[in-house]
Amino acid sequence: MGFVSKLCHLPEIGARVIEEMLMPAIVSGKLLVLYNRVPKSVSLSEGRIQAVEMLDTQEGTGIWIEADYVLDATELGDLLPLAKVGYVTGAESCRDTGELHAVSGDPEPENVQAFTWCFPMGYDAAATALRDEYAIPKPKQYEYWRSFTPKMEPAWSGSLLSLRYCHPPTCEPIEFPLFASEEKPNGWNLWGYRRILSKEVFSEPDQWHEITLINWPQNDYLEGNLIGASSQETERILEGARQLSLSFAYWLQNEAPRPDGGAGYHGLYLRPDITGTKDGLAKAPYIRESRRISALTTVTENHVGAHARDWNWPDAMKDSVGVGWYPIDLHPSSDGKNYIDIPTLPFQIPLGALIPQDDINLIAAAKNIGTTHITNGCYRLHPTEWTIGEAAGCLASFCLTHDVVPKQVWEKSGLLSDFQTNLVDHGFELEWSSRHQREYYEAIKA
Ligand SMILES: Cc1cc2nc3c(=O)[nH]c(=O)nc-3n(C[C@H](O)[C@H](O)[C@H](O)COP(=O)(O)OP(=O)(O)OC[C@H]3O[C@@H](n4cnc5c(N)ncnc54)[C@H](O)[C@@H]3O)c2cc1C
Repeated sequence: MGFVSKLCHLPEIGARVIEEMLMPAIVSGKLLVLYNRVPKSVSLSEGRIQAVEMLDTQEGTGIWIEADYVLDATELGDLLPLAKVGYVTGAESCRDTGELHAVSGDPEPENVQAFTWCFPMGYDAAATALRDEYAIPKPKQYEYWRSFTPKMEPAWSGSLLSLRYCHPPTCEPIEFPLFASEEKPNGWNLWGYRRILSKEVFSEPDQWHEITLINWPQNDYLEGNLIGASSQETERILEGARQLSLSFAYWLQNEAPRPDGGAGYHGLYLRPDITGTKDGLAKAPYIRESRRISALTTVTENHVGAHARDWNWPDAMKDSVGVGWYPIDLHPSSDGKNYIDIPTLPFQIPLGALIPQDDINLIAAAKNIGTTHITNGCYRLHPTEWTIGEAAGCLASFCLTHDVVPKQVWEKSGLLSDFQTNLVDHGFELEWSSRHQREYYEAIKA
């Protein structure tokens, strides 16, 4: 019952589904899953990664893991600097990429999209007028965030803490109701956007409090770039993002305008029981833009953007390892650029975007593939990222089985077609069906 997707559920359900899927590999000893680890260092020899040291963030201890191939699916592409793999960050110049929406002057490596410290909120409608029932303490940066207006180009309208934000395609301000009203039960409202628990799916709805995930433009954090930040700067940025989210929760509880003329929805409350954290914020921030490998192929707006292509269908990618489709959805950036929201045409994922130009046994397995700042906006989403990860795993396996390296698979047409057949046997779709092409094309144009 969330508008954003058919997959809207409590986080624990997602975690359990994934654990269940992995269980056969775990119990048969093929897979070891280690939680709460971050890569700390890499042992390199003759340009190859021999092993990666993973730090246990709770115990402070390290463990070295040796492997023939290393797949990086970290949120920020952590392995790339550690393994000395060439990469880019931020916004490329249109001089270099020829993209319609790239920045016009020099590249802006610090210009990355906002990240968000998400949190779920429950709602007890019966407590709306009861100020103290669920009140959280005033966050220490509240006064700062309460009067904060992002400095943006095009300009942001009013304070960030509001029920209003810039309409992504036009950057015009739009006001949303928090909840659906009786007059417009199906009208757009913020609550239903990312609802993860709906009363309506239960036989006794009144026994439940609904829950929504607050991942809205209002808690996009714009005041810093995590990529390459020192540990002190990282802590400042992360704390700022936590404070922004808590301030928004406090504002919703105490100051958000209600249709009855009152202020504050006192029945809204944080759900640390859902997140497993003390403060009720998510365990980790949601990062939209990571380091990107300097890849054999870089996907640009000219490959996928509807306007850049004058609505001409993307050219077939002969090294396709999967399909994806999502608009170019760039959130406001740490360098003051407002939304960029551009339609795309259903596209493919080229194998060359997963393989670094450097000769190294690392494969990009997430949003760290060869895209630009602009096309990251359409390759960073669930279905596409999942396909990228699956294709990266299949590529490592194929290379080990056939005693070849990824670049050979990409270069030699016989190997490439064997690999693609292997992918199709694993259930991959490498191209859009003509029915989907037709349907999507009509939908986007409309
Ligand atoms: C709050 C939020 C809102 C979002 N909104 C949307 C949306 O509206 N629509 C949409 O389509 N997408 C959205 N996304 C994006 C979507 O969630 C991601 O695209 C998706 O989760 C990526 O899945 P993944 O499995 O590829 O990567 P992840 O979920 O990041 O999982 C990768 C895992 O692998 C681990 N890992 C990395 N490298 C290794 C290694 N070598 N060995 C072992 N483990 C490794 C990482 O630690 C991590 O746990 C959203 C994401 C968030 C967090």
